[in-house]
Amino acid sequence: MTAVTPLFRAAGRLVSPGGTKGKLTILTYHRVPPDIDPLLSSDQVNAQKFSKHMGILAECFNVLCLPEALERLARGTLPSRALSITFDDGYRDNYTIALPILQSHGMKATFFVCSGYLNDGLMFNDVIIESLRACQSTQLDLCWLGLGHLPVHDMTSKHVSAQKILGAVKYLPFLEREQACARLWQAAAPGKELPRLMMTDDQIRQLVAHGMTIGGHTHTHPILNRIDLDSARQDIAHNRQLLATLVGHEPLIFAYPNGRPVRDYGHEHVQLVMELGYHAAVSTAWGVATHSCDRYQLPRFAPWEGNPRRLVMQLLRNAMTGQHPLTARNVG
Ligand SMILES: [Zn+2]
Repeated sequence: MTAVTPLFRAAGRLVSPGGTKGKLTILTYHRVPPDIDPLLSSDQVNAQKFSKHMGILAECFNVLCLPEALERLARGTLPSRALSITFDDGYRDNYTIALPILQSHGMKATFFVCSGYLNDGLMFNDVIIESLRACQSTQLDLCWLGLGHLPVHDMTSKHVSAQKILGAVKYLPFLEREQACARLWQAAAPGKELPRLMMTDDQIRQLVAHGMTIGGHTHTHPILNRIDLDSARQDIAHNRQLLATLVGHEPLIFAYPNGRPVRDYGHEHVQLVMELGYHAAVSTAWGVATHSCDRYQLPRFAPWEGNPRRLVMQLLRNAMTGQHPLTARNVG
């Protein structure tokens, strides 16, 4: 235990009380790479940072699995300093790196899985990053994307170029985006196979066997606001069905892809998620979940801080100021 732990716990009881005034901090993680990856964002949480996070969280917070936490939030029986851990997308390192660290602290987490990329698939953002990692030229001709010739001679230039390509393709229609990424991979790494970064079916089943929760996250990770409502319904329903077949029961909690209320999803998608049988859903709006929150648009917090004390301060500040998260409202 660190010297400041009692102080943090006392502050935590004040700003994140339990009972009917209960607050639930829900953390979002994505990839947990083994080492610092120069091509990922500087906010990345690698194995070492993740391990530090779990260490200080185990000391300063009451970490609950999300289904239990949501039930207790609804009943007004949350403990003070309540916190849940979630991962988005279904990255393989969640299983190989994060799971053993979670287990060493006796923690349970929820994994929101995008079924369309399990096993040997790759999400578009990763195709871009891995294309540049694999590229052995000094520059890439991306005139066809309106980006001219981008430098890729070292990790710094690859990182900058990857961000430019991400910005150019992120909001393209799904098929156009897939085609652009396939063309990029062929230009950057001709003849090579894409690396495998996502969990296998068996790893998903293993997570469940270890007491972890699987949640829905769509089949192909579309920005829901950019596709028609029927396609959104099919994508969300297909994901739920596949995950149910994979783990033997239907997932009950959903995470909106990209997850920014209004910009990435609207109230019609909130309605859809409810109709399709989910009991709750999380967004990526920053904040802390309280009894008065929309159960289908619960806010989360993505921690990036490497220093454990500063991480706790960040989370306490979020619990103090994040009670009114952004949501997509019914305008009909
Ligand atoms: Zn996602």
